[in-house]
Amino acid sequence: MDKKRRDFLKIAGASTLAGLGGTAVVDRLVSGTSPVQSKATKEVDSGHGGGHEAAAQGHAAGVEVAKSGNRFGMIVDLRKFKENPALGDIVVEACHGTHNVPDFSEKKDEIKWTWLTGYGGAFTEHSRLYKDQLTLDNDVLVMCNHCDNPPCVRACPTKATFKNKDGIVAMDYHRCIGCRFCMAACPYGMRSFNWRDPRAGLDMNKLNNEFPTRMRGVVEKCNFCAERVGLGKQPACVEACGDSKALIFGNLNDPESEIRKVLKANYTVQRKPSLGTHPSVFYIV
Ligand code: SF4
Ligand code: SF4
Ligand code: SF4
Repeated sequence: MDKKRRDFLKIAGASTLAGLGGTAVVDRLVSGTSPVQSKATKEVDSGHGGGHEAAAQGHAAGVEVAKSGNRFGMIVDLRKFKENPALGDIVVEACHGTHNVPDFSEKKDEIKWTWLTGYGGAFTEHSRLYKDQLTLDNDVLVMCNHCDNPPCVRACPTKATFKNKDGIVAMDYHRCIGCRFCMAACPYGMRSFNWRDPRAGLDMNKLNNEFPTRMRGVVEKCNFCAERVGLGKQPACVEACGDSKALIFGNLNDPESEIRKVLKANYTVQRKPSLGTHPSVFYIV
């Protein structure tokens, strides 16, 4: 057994491989002849979306990355979304436009990185008793929680999903084999699978050439704008909120950061806290 194959077996584990279809999958993975992988490499490297996917995700070669000591997080201030109901759509449009997220009319093909959902669906563990009706009727912006203890990362047999040096749960599309274990593992339903070629759902005149398009057969989700954060920029959704402070992004490990100060000054909740995933997205309800 060659070294690459042994290394992969160590990563995947025998039970996972059974779920993937056995050693044939290993052979395809280590030889680089997986149809999905080949397509991914071709599509990303061909310049669709302008640039290498790994760079866009802020992912250095390999998946074992040194920790920076940062842990990025987000506050969603639902009071601001209540004050300005148009903000939700503005944010979703900014995110999806920035990341070339396709727009398919059929629900089964839908790809979403962030979206609005009902209060009850977002906060399943929180009491609604005696809450004011406006709060309950107000939609809640949801996105990947970039959990500090992410079950999706543990479930991924190829390390296509990984926690980067800044605590961001990122994706390497080259490594994704489309097994969807991460989707089953995410208790928040924050991941989408490309059943169709996503490029068919894009307006090519509005393509963001700074971010790669994806391909059929891979999973995707909010990446906390790792490609922007790596350049010292704010996430696109935060920028789209202007000065409203509806979204606040920053380093949770820095006690002097704005996000830490806002967390200290306000009561916030996380989604499904009982699961122990330790979400990095906080809500001011
Ligand atoms: S919200 Fe889901 S996809 Fe995001 S890090 Fe947590 S478990 Fe993973
Ligand atoms: S579908 Fe999810 S679990 Fe499977 S390889 Fe891709 S990222 Fe990993
Ligand atoms: S942080 Fe970036 S990827 Fe995540 S919802 Fe905001 S704009 Fe989208």
